[in-house]
Amino acid sequence: MKKIDNCYVNITDNDIEYINVSIKDKMISGKGPYTPLFEEKLANYFGTNHSLTCSNATLGILMILMLLEVKEGDEVILPATAPIMSVLPIISLKAKPVFVDNEENSFNLCIKDLSKKISKKTKLLINVPMWGYANNIDEIAQICNLNDVKVLEDNSHCHGSKLNDSYLGCFGDYSVFSTHERKLITTGEGGFLLINNEVDYLKLKEIRSFGEAYSIKSTHEQYGGYGLFLGLNFKLSSINSAIGITQLDKLEWKIKKRTENANYIKTNILKISSKISEIKTLDNSINNYYSLALLVPEKDKNEIENLLMQQNIISDPLRYKYCPLYNLPIVSNTNKDCYNSEKLIDQIFTLPTHEGLDIMDLDTMIDVIKKYYA
Ligand SMILES: *Cc1c(COP(=O)(O)O)cnc(C)c1O
Repeated sequence: MKKIDNCYVNITDNDIEYINVSIKDKMISGKGPYTPLFEEKLANYFGTNHSLTCSNATLGILMILMLLEVKEGDEVILPATAPIMSVLPIISLKAKPVFVDNEENSFNLCIKDLSKKISKKTKLLINVPMWGYANNIDEIAQICNLNDVKVLEDNSHCHGSKLNDSYLGCFGDYSVFSTHERKLITTGEGGFLLINNEVDYLKLKEIRSFGEAYSIKSTHEQYGGYGLFLGLNFKLSSINSAIGITQLDKLEWKIKKRTENANYIKTNILKISSKISEIKTLDNSINNYYSLALLVPEKDKNEIENLLMQQNIISDPLRYKYCPLYNLPIVSNTNKDCYNSEKLIDQIFTLPTHEGLDIMDLDTMIDVIKKYYA
C-alpha cells in the first residue's frame, strides 16, 4: 500500500539539470556561485532587504541567538505547540525557554498571556505557526516592539503563507525557514534567514563563516580577516543552493495544488459531522497547506489517526507524538501552564495535501472519516 504522509520530494528533470550545471562549475562549497544567487532570489520573492542561507533551520535559530548574545539566564519565549527543533538551540546555550499559550482552537498566540510572560530577562520571542496556518504575528510583533523584545519568525512550515497581503517572514525582526526534504522548498538539508537590518546582516555573515570580518572593513586584512569575531560554520553548499533555486520556482504552483486538494477534502468531510472542523484561520490570511489541520473531540482523535494509519495515511501529530514542548524530559524547569495548547494538541490531526496525491488518495482519506462518523 502506498504510504501517504506530508513528505513529497518534488524533484524533476529541471532540478537535476540545474544540479548538474552547478557541479560542473567545480565551485561547490558555500562560497560557490549558486548560494548568493539563491539568496538574491529569496530576498526578491519575500521582499526583504537580505536573505542568508544556512545549513538548516535549527542552526538558523542558533545564529539569531548568537547574534543577540543570548546566554545562560536569558529567557526566550515560544509557543508550547512548537516542535522540538525550535527549542533545542535555546537549551544548547543554557538560556531558559518560557512557554506562551495560544488562543482556543487556533495557533494565534494569546496576547494576554504573552504580556504576562515578557520579563526583564526576555531576549527574544520565537513565533512558530504550524502546518502553514498564519497566526496573529502582526499583534505579536507589536507587543514585542513595545517591550523591546526582538521577534524571530520560525516559518519552517510556512513558505508562501500570507497575512494581510504580506508573506510570513516580513513581520518579525528576523525570520528562519527550513529547506529539509519535508518542507515546501527543499534543498535536502538546509535553511535560510530573512533580514532587513544591514548591521545584523553583516554580523550574521560573520557568525555563519568562522567570524570572517564583514562588519568592519578596515580590519579585514589583519589576521587574514578572521580572529576578531566569534563565528562557527553554518554555510549551505552551492549544490544545495542550486536545488533551492529550481524548487523556489515551483512554490506558487505547489501551493495552488495543495489548496485545491485541501478544498476537495474539506468540501467532503466538513459536512459529515459537526464534530470535525478545520483549525481556526485568520480572515485576512492565505495558507500554503503544508498540511490540512483538523480538530475533533479528544476521544475521537486517536481512533481516527489509527484508522488512517491502517490505510497508510500518516497524521503528523501521530508520526512525531505531538505533545506540549514542556512535557519533554530535555525541557525541564519551565512553566507548564499552557492549557489551550494542551487542549489543542489533544484534538488535532493532520491530512496530507501535497501535489503528489491523486483523487483516489484523497477519497481514501475522506472514506475513513465518513465511516468513522457514519
Ligand atoms: C523542520 C522544522 C525545523 C527544523 O528544520 P531543520 O532545517 O530540519 O533544522 C524548525 N522548526 C520548525 C517549525 C520545523 O518545522
